[in-house]
Amino acid sequence: MIAAAQATSTEAVPVIDLRDVEKVYHAGEVDVRAVAGLTLRIARGEFVAVMGASGSGKSTLMNILGCLDRPTAGRYLLDGVPVADLNRKQLAQLRNRKLGFVFQSFNLLARTTAMENVELPLFYSEPLVPLRERHRRSREALEMVGLGNRLTHRPSQLSGGQQQRIAIARALVNKPGLLLADEPTGNLDTRTSIEIMGLFQSLNETGITVVMVTHELDIAGFCNRIVVMRDGRLLEDRRNEHPLRAAEELGRLDREEQQANIGEARGSP
Ligand code: ADP
Ligand code: MG
Repeated sequence: MIAAAQATSTEAVPVIDLRDVEKVYHAGEVDVRAVAGLTLRIARGEFVAVMGASGSGKSTLMNILGCLDRPTAGRYLLDGVPVADLNRKQLAQLRNRKLGFVFQSFNLLARTTAMENVELPLFYSEPLVPLRERHRRSREALEMVGLGNRLTHRPSQLSGGQQQRIAIARALVNKPGLLLADEPTGNLDTRTSIEIMGLFQSLNETGITVVMVTHELDIAGFCNRIVVMRDGRLLEDRRNEHPLRAAEELGRLDREEQQANIGEARGSP
């Protein structure tokens, strides 16, 4: 009886459970309340866009979710675990096991191959992952993001979209249940951005929870839920019942470009 009840309650544990979370930065004379009392639950398998104007607290929120930063007040439970109760080592392990983080600027090591970049998080795993296993998992992650044929390329030899794919592979190499991405398409053109959304959608379909910051409504349209922040608070939180499908949007883009080319050809002498 008790076991059954526990099983049910485990089922209902959200991946992310924020309660009245605040983050105050002390910048010189003034205090900045970057996150100002935020309560938010995200269930397993959601694909959430976080929107809001510049300075509304999106990155601060993501850094808290990613355990890169601690709230100054409130509670954060990650998979039911109160993050504040963990020591540094436990926190590092939890982060390594449970989440992957993707940044706008890719944050890759420049003079290092795709494989080596992706292997990096495995060096911090406990117990230590043997060399062959590191290679195998790195290759597998790169194949997942469609870069199985670029294993020994360095970031400078690859396009922006390919570099972001390496960063996503690196975030996936520990098989996390939660992928956090702060403006992952901020440095990418429209087509490449949609391709990255396609990748996130297929990862999400395998059961990975994805939380992504974007300031573009078009990009948020690929998510199942859209939350909007303002001044460190939630302004809006809504379901997106009909998310865009990346494959369809890429097809539409192809047709638009063809039309434009035909128009150009007709217009030219
Ligand atoms: P967003 O990602 O939505 O643009 P941020 O979370 O980066 O917003 O910033 C929210 C607010 O917190 C801004 O007013 C910003 O200036 C301030 N802020 C962010 N990081 C720091 C910091 N390390 N020290 C002081 N203030 C900060
Ligand atoms: Mg930001």
